[in-house]
Amino acid sequence: MGYAYDDQNIFAKILRGDIPNSTVLETEHTLAFRDIEPQAPTHVLVIPKGAYVSYDHFAAEASDAEIIDYTRAIAEVCRMEGVSIDGNDGFRLISNAGAHGVQDVPHLHVHILGGRRMGRMVQPAG
Ligand code: AMP
Repeated sequence: MGYAYDDQNIFAKILRGDIPNSTVLETEHTLAFRDIEPQAPTHVLVIPKGAYVSYDHFAAEASDAEIIDYTRAIAEVCRMEGVSIDGNDGFRLISNAGAHGVQDVPHLHVHILGGRRMGRMVQPAG
């Protein structure tokens, strides 16, 4: 068992600088960039720079410094994008994992979605 990380995934290539991205925020351990197919007026992906497949992998194996940096960076992007509930209308945070989570890119990412009402949390299975 264990978490197998594939370093050929597209976000690993973004982190290596092999393909471009539209960066919103970069910190010591975290990169936030715009989703290439935005589903809402604000659609930002936030990824740790470390090689973690999913949220559970990250929570189990990342250092405290990485976890603190990542958690705070997500909130900072919400603030920067004007979707924080501290004075704004809010957002949805999604992190898909594995087959049932319908995760396409096997590098941990959260989607920050905002700028409109997001509708129902879970759609019928597709
Ligand atoms: P998920 O299904 O949660 O793994 O979501 C993967 C997300 O990555 C999708 O919303 C894609 O639109 C997005 N995506 C794929 N390639 C890129 C890229 N090169 N730059 C930005 N976003 C991307």
